[in-house]
Amino acid sequence: MNKPVVLVVEDDHSVRNLITTTLKAHDYRYLTAANGADAILEASSHNPDVVFLDLGLPDMDGIDIIQKIRSWSTMPIIVISARSEDTDKIEALDAGADDYLTKPFSVEELLARLRVTQRRLAMMATDASEAAVFENGELRIDYAAGCAYLHDAPLHLTPIEYKLLCLLARNVGKVLTHTFITQNIWGSAWESDIASLRVYMATLRKKLEQGPDAPQYIQTHIGVGYRMVRL
Ligand code: CA
Repeated sequence: MNKPVVLVVEDDHSVRNLITTTLKAHDYRYLTAANGADAILEASSHNPDVVFLDLGLPDMDGIDIIQKIRSWSTMPIIVISARSEDTDKIEALDAGADDYLTKPFSVEELLARLRVTQRRLAMMATDASEAAVFENGELRIDYAAGCAYLHDAPLHLTPIEYKLLCLLARNVGKVLTHTFITQNIWGSAWESDIASLRVYMATLRKKLEQGPDAPQYIQTHIGVGYRMVRL
């Protein structure tokens, strides 16, 4: 199994170093952010597998970051904070954090929490791959046959439109950024790819949606990306 990419959000240089050194020693890939604005940018553009989040950041409270990320993603968030009151933990977990680690922490515990999250991710991936047919509203995708249907009638999609539809379907409910989509479809994220993406998305929607002004299946998040809505 691939090691997940961990986004480490921590303004304290020494703590950040401790975490990234630990991750590196165990072959994890990681990204870092030292403030809230960078954290949100990294999370949205790189779609990491797990986020380690400090709550006390210079520009923003970590709770706000959890809420922001939760507005478009279910990526696991593990809070690592010096705040040790139960009320702080409850607030973070209620906002959508998956786990809570109190500073000072041991690196063994940090790695153990990460392994638990990995197991959860692996289980989710297995569930998703076992479903050979995706159904959402009147849309059905038969992954094995490589065909999509709407109201039981085949959708005549170009290969790229089909790839786009599958990518959105496999991540149903999540906002996928322009960069994430173009990297998955074309393996790159040039401005020209993003322009092409708009064109393909428009032709896909023409085939999929009843009215172009009221898309039912694919939502646009202006300046961010697209999301398939679970109907
Ligand atoms: Ca801090």
